[in-house]
Amino acid sequence: MRLVLLGAPGSGKGTQAQRMQVRHGVPQVSTGDLLREAVAAGTQLGRAAHIVMQAGGLVADDIMLGIIRERLARSDAARGFILDGFPRTQAQADGLAALLKSLGTPLDTVVLLEIDPEVLLRRVAGRRSCRRCGRVFHIETNPPRPGERCADGKEHDLFQRPDDNEATVRQRLAVYCERTQPLIEHYARLGLLRRIDANGTLDDVDTRLEAAIATD
Ligand SMILES: [Zn+2]
Repeated sequence: MRLVLLGAPGSGKGTQAQRMQVRHGVPQVSTGDLLREAVAAGTQLGRAAHIVMQAGGLVADDIMLGIIRERLARSDAARGFILDGFPRTQAQADGLAALLKSLGTPLDTVVLLEIDPEVLLRRVAGRRSCRRCGRVFHIETNPPRPGERCADGKEHDLFQRPDDNEATVRQRLAVYCERTQPLIEHYARLGLLRRIDANGTLDDVDTRLEAAIATD
């Protein structure tokens, strides 16, 4: 399975990718998580990325493609991957296609998660991530279960990402819509695109997602 999940920030891509990773045994490759790791590690790349991310912007394509190439070279990606958060532009899609061609692993499917903007703002406001294990929760719709812990046995250490405030979300959404529309049309022309309704419960969206990829 070589899949790209497309959708506005907060459309549920990350959560769906986590669930699919468990069901299908292929890794979620989240460029957001990979970047945040670099920021936390304080690498040169991480420091440069931090400034751009705080302003709600996007990190340079060649840097992102380098990070993805390294990630796909790890052994757990041999059977496939679920790309979450990349590509977001036509130029990134072209870069990704060239990278995957060189690896002999072209994409199978691109799924677009379509969501109502007001639902999206509500989702993002309640989103929390665990500092320790990186899992993403929602305080209303997807909280940690009672007694549930990180893999190392400690309690989840939830925090709200600083870029998950309303002004930044609206800015990200505007950037997303402007840059991603040509990408959606591009994947539709290639016959790779499946659209699913991403409003509703996580389980509803799961069901639609599995149905969309089962038609291949
Ligand atoms: Zn945790």
